[in-house]
Amino acid sequence: MQRLPGSGTFSHGVHPDEHKEATEGLPIERMPFVSRFVLPLSQHIGAPCRPVVRPNQRVRRGQLVAEPGGFVSTALHSPVTGRVVGIGPRRHPNGQLVQAIEIEADPLDPQDMPDQSFGDPLTMPVPELIDLVQRGGMVGLGGAAFPSHVKYKLPEGRSARWLVLNGCECEPFLTCDHRVMVEHPDRVLRGIQIVGRLLGVEEAVIGVELNKPDAIEALRHAIEDAGDLVVPTRVQGVKVKYPQGAEKMLIKALFDVEVPAGKLPLDVGMVVNNVGTMAAVADWFDHGRPLVERVITVSGPGVRRPANLLVPIGTPIRAVLEYCDALGPDVQEIVMGGPMMGQPVASLDAPVLKGTSGLLVFTESRDQAMRACIKCGRCLEACAYNLNPSRLGRLARAGRIEEMERYHLMDCMECGACTWACPSRIPLVQLFRSAKGNLRKIKAAAK
Ligand code: SF4
Ligand code: SF4
Repeated sequence: MQRLPGSGTFSHGVHPDEHKEATEGLPIERMPFVSRFVLPLSQHIGAPCRPVVRPNQRVRRGQLVAEPGGFVSTALHSPVTGRVVGIGPRRHPNGQLVQAIEIEADPLDPQDMPDQSFGDPLTMPVPELIDLVQRGGMVGLGGAAFPSHVKYKLPEGRSARWLVLNGCECEPFLTCDHRVMVEHPDRVLRGIQIVGRLLGVEEAVIGVELNKPDAIEALRHAIEDAGDLVVPTRVQGVKVKYPQGAEKMLIKALFDVEVPAGKLPLDVGMVVNNVGTMAAVADWFDHGRPLVERVITVSGPGVRRPANLLVPIGTPIRAVLEYCDALGPDVQEIVMGGPMMGQPVASLDAPVLKGTSGLLVFTESRDQAMRACIKCGRCLEACAYNLNPSRLGRLARAGRIEEMERYHLMDCMECGACTWACPSRIPLVQLFRSAKGNLRKIKAAAK
């Protein structure tokens, strides 16, 4: 495949208000440790992990508390030094009860993590690197929480030529990736070298939306300062548009290459990762710090003290929102993630997860009365995947779910652009998400 110059964007898509001004200039701040942490055993895509600790056991910060439950699964570590107080059902942010480990922090412990390394990741055998990525509990930090080692273990006979880094952060309000790129470009670059060398790519390309010039500059300086790199790396600005950070859209913008429907980036020789994941990989290999904390953005009209916070995984959502003075009487809705793809928070007792990129607090309900479809076509114009959301929506509301497959329901990436564009307030993406779940169940039953 010949590499073509990127067009800097993709067809269709939408331009929601960015709402990033409240936090884009705020440095990352460490949130103080609270007293209790809840670690769901399934906070990644794939099999839940299996506890290796028991109630009352003392654990150190960074200690393994649950091992991977299979290949598509990852490890889980304690975010604090303290004591396991229970293993059993606890609330997930979606309101359901899920198996989890609860840990009480030791209030007298300084909560340090020992600095350790596993040897030079730029010379280590690749299978060892992949195993270590799994043991570090690494997942994609962009929101999907897909175990990173699975993405890095290329199928037999396949290879990747490019590592593509997603620094777009195209969801409104969110600025956590932006701040990581501005404040820790060296860590992002170090992670890129480790993962790029693991994959054996020829080049790494970081795509950053042009509304983050300071991030572009910081990364370019880090690349210049690093001198000779094992994996040549460059930064490319891309237009500000939603969903620019979706894997296929980013590849189109950077390389002018289409990833066909039903295919993966690897089918065009690429692996896509989030920039925050790169920083986490660097921390693990260089300092032995597994994924026990992450940066999240706390913002929205209901937040009196917006912030980019470094939060231990497992911190209750209530504690984060109290810290940011975001639990006033005017709160109408709390969303985990961005407003386009995020999910409503059903329980404040639920914890921050590995895949939590933000907590947004709204003072007006975003649910508005749905009206009839006026066949305006705005949803078709919005859909970067060339689907027909209007038709899919009609079929979903008529319960004709199996028919939806013919209209490529399973290619829907649930980006929410059609819902945002719809003047009749039809909750299209919610209908598609539920239809996809039902279709999977129908197929499983048929098997
Ligand atoms: S949610 Fe699905 S149908 Fe709607 S714009 Fe995104 S990909 Fe297209
Ligand atoms: S945007 Fe809404 S009203 Fe317009 S065609 Fe699509 S579903 Fe119908």
